[in-house]
Amino acid sequence: MRPQILFPLFAEVSTLKGVGPRVLPLVQKVAGPLVRDLLFLSPSGVIVRRPAEAASAIDGEVGVFTVTIDRLFTPSRPGAPLKVRASDPTGFVHLVWFGGSPQHIDRLLPRGETRLVAGKVERFNGEVQIVHPDIVTLEKAADIPASEPVYPATQGLSSRQLRKLVQGALPAAPDLPEWQDPAWLKKQNWLGWRAALDALHAPTAEMDLSPDAPARQRLAYDEFLAHQLALARRRRAREIRPAPVIVPGAASEHLLQALPFQLTNAQAQAVAEIRRDLASGQQTGRLLQGDVGSGKTAVAAVALADAASSGFQSALMAPTEILARQHYKKLGPMLDAAGVAAVLLTGRDTPAQRREKLAALASGHVQVAIGTHALFQDAVRFDRLALAVIDEQHRFGVNERQRLQAKGDPRLGAVHLLTMSATPIPRTLELTQYGELEVSRLMEKPPGRTPVTTAVLPLARIGEVAARLKTAVESGAQAYWICPLVEESEAIDLAAAVDRADDLRRLLGVEVGLAHGQMPGAEREAVMAAFADGRLPVLVATTVVEVGVDVPNASIMVIEHADRFGLAQLHQLRGRVGRGAKASSCILLYGGQDGALGETAKERLETLRRTEDGFEIAEEDFRLRGGGDPLGLKQSGFPAYRFADPIRHRSLMLAAADDARLIMNRDPDLTSERGRAVQVLEELFDWKNHKVGAS
Ligand code: ADP
Ligand code: MG
Repeated sequence: MRPQILFPLFAEVSTLKGVGPRVLPLVQKVAGPLVRDLLFLSPSGVIVRRPAEAASAIDGEVGVFTVTIDRLFTPSRPGAPLKVRASDPTGFVHLVWFGGSPQHIDRLLPRGETRLVAGKVERFNGEVQIVHPDIVTLEKAADIPASEPVYPATQGLSSRQLRKLVQGALPAAPDLPEWQDPAWLKKQNWLGWRAALDALHAPTAEMDLSPDAPARQRLAYDEFLAHQLALARRRRAREIRPAPVIVPGAASEHLLQALPFQLTNAQAQAVAEIRRDLASGQQTGRLLQGDVGSGKTAVAAVALADAASSGFQSALMAPTEILARQHYKKLGPMLDAAGVAAVLLTGRDTPAQRREKLAALASGHVQVAIGTHALFQDAVRFDRLALAVIDEQHRFGVNERQRLQAKGDPRLGAVHLLTMSATPIPRTLELTQYGELEVSRLMEKPPGRTPVTTAVLPLARIGEVAARLKTAVESGAQAYWICPLVEESEAIDLAAAVDRADDLRRLLGVEVGLAHGQMPGAEREAVMAAFADGRLPVLVATTVVEVGVDVPNASIMVIEHADRFGLAQLHQLRGRVGRGAKASSCILLYGGQDGALGETAKERLETLRRTEDGFEIAEEDFRLRGGGDPLGLKQSGFPAYRFADPIRHRSLMLAAADDARLIMNRDPDLTSERGRAVQVLEELFDWKNHKVGAS
């Protein structure tokens, strides 16, 4: 329930003085429906006024002049401005209006009288001029505000009107109990919430508008904290849900022995984290993040074997047929060696095969189901499903994951969830998107990987690239050749990919496959399978090869128009090579005919050349995209924050996430004094009623 202290903030803006039926929809559009929303509207600018004199006035500054009115020049022709010449002891100041009424101006500025005028100084033919002075008054200079916030105006609602409304609403904002940790607050040197709100609306210099201004930092932190608390609550709701106890056993031992390698330290640690979850008796929700080739499958395999050891069934779901098959091909024999029976369930099964597999799952004869979307269909029943593992989890909807999880037997408890992702994302994005999940990261790659040599070349050198490719292919190498596919120009891009395949066929004199998203699924997968089996030396593809495909013999990756891809995507694509013993290379071709490449674009590709660490690339990509791309931020999964900027306030978000965790661990029911204040914060931002994450 909303605490009473917040009522004034949650009143409709229509209750404010000055918000009549005409203005109401405009305020709602600019700020939102509530008084809170208006008060959370940050100024976008500030007018700073300084006392000024004609002789020394500075272009572009807002000056306050004390002038004597000299004469009015009425417009000489229609459309010409109306001018008033005024002067101070140091020179003339011309006041200019476009479309003003001479009578009105005459009354406002009678000849011979002294007035204060304020406005932005422009020099025109060496003379000081002010177009549309923002203040003309009889008052003393001291009575003119030295600074004034500027708000994002809209047609019909000026910044000045908004400022009046905000100023009118501010007194209604209550003092709220402090929800931030006192020591932290002191260390940051921040104001209390109420004072910060006042400061937000009273900037006195450009500096006060910066994301680094203390008031803005405080409010951003509050917003992050409220959001992270909402996520922490979800985590907690899951954690208190009883779930089957899964502990390692004989099958796990056998599986580890059957693995053709030793787990890396990173893998061993992830396994330990997952095992702790699975043994807790509470529902697991974990994301296993690891770059392409970091060995997530082996980690998942251990969890599958653990479940079987404990007498439960599990499911491993992958987004495509080819991936599911690959998992089955790799895991099947290992699980088999561990005495665990697995089936592959996809859309390609014949009705008879399917019937048989479904029966085996329903009866519990088979412990592991590996498959695609086919896994969560209604006809699929399990005997004792306890664990769902989702590979490339972002390719599934929340509903699809839930449908699979719903196949558990409620009497056993909730089905554990282990999701995997090979798309490294910045830590901040991870916190917002998957804040309700625990995260394990595989930071280290298995040994024996050959580093990929990356070259960045202009498209103009495509001839050389093709020549080198010919030599490589003749000695048995396989290559991917990626063409971009951008939605706006899909038809053209597709045609370009088809043409490129033709070119290469001619140039290389070998068979060249073509795979793109517009092809029927079966046809595309047939081409990919031919490439995977080594029957096709070269595969021209749009980005469909991004996801998890493993062709160890492929050692060359050419990416055309690399500058049109996101860094993360390029990294994913590059991860397709360097999987075997062969020395691998990745060639990034940039630019079109002119071959020009901007600074940021260069820096981006350079990052890729420098490092193969997906997490580093993700952070760098994020930084380079900068805060000036709100659309990009949204697309990348950040919620619409009011105060917080996930890039500029990165460290604040990380701190708030830790803070939220600490609060929930110490005082899960929020009954302490700080806990109660924290509840007010949660209500203030109201994240509970928003979609707070993608997971
Ligand atoms: P991803 O994280 O992309 O799913 P995979 O699980 O497919 O990666 O692993 C990539 C390759 O690395 C596979 O061929 C796998 O057999 C191998 N691999 C995994 N773990 C190890 C390890 N500890 N030592 C050596 N090779 C490993
Ligand atoms: Mg994988």
